Amino acid sequence: MFSIEKIIRPHLLGLKPYSSARDEFEGEASVYLDANENNLGSLAGGVDYNRYPDPYQKTIKEKLAKLKGVKSEQIFIGNGSDEAIDLLVRLVCEPGQDEVLLLPPTYGMYEVSANIHNVGIQRVPLDSRFQPVFEKIAEKQTERTKILFLCSPNNPTGNILEPATVEKLIQSFNGLVVVDEAYIDFTVSPSWSTRLEEFPNLVVLQTLSKAWGMAGLRLGMAFASPQIISLLNKIKPPYNVNVVTQELVSNALDKTAQLHDMLEVIVQERTRVMDQFESLSLIEKVYPSDANFVLVQVPNANELYAYLLERGVVVRNRSTQPGCANCLRITIGTPEENDHLLDSLKAYSAQVTTK
Ligand SMILES: *Cc1c(COP(=O)(O)O)cnc(C)c1O
Repeated sequence: MFSIEKIIRPHLLGLKPYSSARDEFEGEASVYLDANENNLGSLAGGVDYNRYPDPYQKTIKEKLAKLKGVKSEQIFIGNGSDEAIDLLVRLVCEPGQDEVLLLPPTYGMYEVSANIHNVGIQRVPLDSRFQPVFEKIAEKQTERTKILFLCSPNNPTGNILEPATVEKLIQSFNGLVVVDEAYIDFTVSPSWSTRLEEFPNLVVLQTLSKAWGMAGLRLGMAFASPQIISLLNKIKPPYNVNVVTQELVSNALDKTAQLHDMLEVIVQERTRVMDQFESLSLIEKVYPSDANFVLVQVPNANELYAYLLERGVVVRNRSTQPGCANCLRITIGTPEENDHLLDSLKAYSAQVTTK
């Protein structure tokens, strides 16, 4: 049986966390002289910008619990999901000793976080369909492997990882399996957060940066067992999500109808853009997408990247990633932006064929 106590860094088990003013007094009072705030007010305006934020973001968690069908105690909120990635590595990986397991090509922060903490990295590349290879991943695991990072839909490839393989990996792995679902809102596949009760070693990451359109506010979520969540809360910076973010996010979480309207536009545009890509001989391969971006393979990614830049369009060149030679990752923009991209690609094709 998995137990977080078996894999957590031993010195963190007994850690006494910082106890903030807001931890020590949680009730209602008329005069707050406990946190050395400026009670005269804030130069930034706002009603409560002079006050420290709720360290546990209770209002947001209650709304997220309803939206996601999980309990508040199963939610950790971070300053972006990048903070959750960093804290998970800190929680279970002993520097200079433990390892994480990555399946490239994938999101770059897992590697950066491991490097920051001097944690080793093992890699098992995804196969030619960008799917995980169970046997090879199983072979790579040792007792030093503390986290397996899975990204589904995967960045930069755009595809969902096959649920049957993911399930086998969660079941067989002795460490934490982190399923990063930053792009889950763009797909019809169910979230792994609906399976938390079955898998005590499962951590699901989501973010408000992509579908919800709040990348600038920095709010990411981790869903896991209450035990894992309380350990993350113990090691996080006390006030990791600021007052403005908490206020704006709390209001935005009520706007689910508008979210669905936006998602409909993006998914429709994704279909339109991909169909157009298919009709361009310049694009050799259009990879399937369950996200708000599309990976394409072209004859010369560096040249096309530079050409698009001249036309004012920035895309992401992923050519150096394993399995992504000559690949560009292109975000689905507004209909007008997508038209501009498509016009630019047509102009490039015309230029190349007349050369
Ligand atoms: C964009 C992205 C994130 C970053 O999320 P933040 O909440 O903005 O930190 C995490 N994971 C993946 C796979 C992403 O593509």
